[in-house]
Amino acid sequence: MVAQKAGTNRVILDTGWTALKGMLEYKAANVIVVPAMNTSRKCHECGAVEAANRRTRDDFTCLACGHAAHADLNAARNIRDKALGRLVAVDEASGIGASARRAAFALATSDP
Ligand SMILES: [Zn+2]
Repeated sequence: MVAQKAGTNRVILDTGWTALKGMLEYKAANVIVVPAMNTSRKCHECGAVEAANRRTRDDFTCLACGHAAHADLNAARNIRDKALGRLVAVDEASGIGASARRAAFALATSDP
């Protein structure tokens, strides 16, 4: 019964993400979906991936280089970099041109 409930919960969660993605695609010109794997464990500064980097829900401190930041900000930067990597890869594969690369560079250099 527990496994069945977990499966039902997973379907509900998947439906929620699918609905959210549909709404974003309706409102935005481009939606880039990236895998979330290790985005909250990876140091944005040095790239080290370690579960212990995430000391609390909010605190990210890299054990390798000492970089410290709010955990959500560190993860958001990792997600942004993954999205920009996909954008540039699509641009190069399709031969669209440099406009996407310029947009990616502008986003990458606009850290607060
Ligand atoms: Zn680091």
